[in-house]
Amino acid sequence: MARSIHSVMRCALLGVLTAWALALFPVRSRNPMSFAKAANAGNGLFCSVSRADNFGHSGLAAALTDFEFVAPPGQLAELDSVVSSWARRELLEWTQSSAPVLPRGAARGIISTGWPTFAMWSSFDQQPSTGFWWFKARNGIVLGAAPSTPDYTSLSPHDRVLPTRIVPLGFAACAAFWAFAWFITLMIPARAKRHFRRRSGRCINCGYDRRGLALDAPCPECGSVLR
Ligand SMILES: [Zn+2]
Repeated sequence: MARSIHSVMRCALLGVLTAWALALFPVRSRNPMSFAKAANAGNGLFCSVSRADNFGHSGLAAALTDFEFVAPPGQLAELDSVVSSWARRELLEWTQSSAPVLPRGAARGIISTGWPTFAMWSSFDQQPSTGFWWFKARNGIVLGAAPSTPDYTSLSPHDRVLPTRIVPLGFAACAAFWAFAWFITLMIPARAKRHFRRRSGRCINCGYDRRGLALDAPCPECGSVLR
């Protein structure tokens, strides 16, 4: 009993560590962005939302434009399907409250990471400056400088930032998924080994050949009385 509680706790810990480790390694996304026109941000500015997904990684950004955004054909998505509910406050409320003071082109992005679902996130603010984009990480630790993106439409939600915010439900789901995966990985071979040792008349603890010994005799090799 104590042994199985130990195994379950070990798998739970491994699940948490795996979920966390996967969330720390964002993959640079090369997939096309989907776009959603969010709202009139006020002060003559509009807000457009873009999102690019890749394995274990999603980059999401809201940018202030001085024109109503026209998405490339086939890439306009519903806002609801582009922005998760937990990310709305960080992105959309920001555009409403910041439009009066921020310049055209200012953007806020969220990088969410984790697999099979998002477990952690970080965010960043981005503003055009002379010849480069000013970039400031929020809720995360920057590992690499933001690349300069002369292309006006390029947001940089793909920089290497270690996320420090947790998506509670997502993290719990990832941890449970990986705990189960570790449980299967670790338990099945151990159980199979015990099963085959028992069937072949060996000590299930150390594999010593017990044939010819009394059933309740301790194992001469390891002293175990398990059969
Ligand atoms: Zn033994």
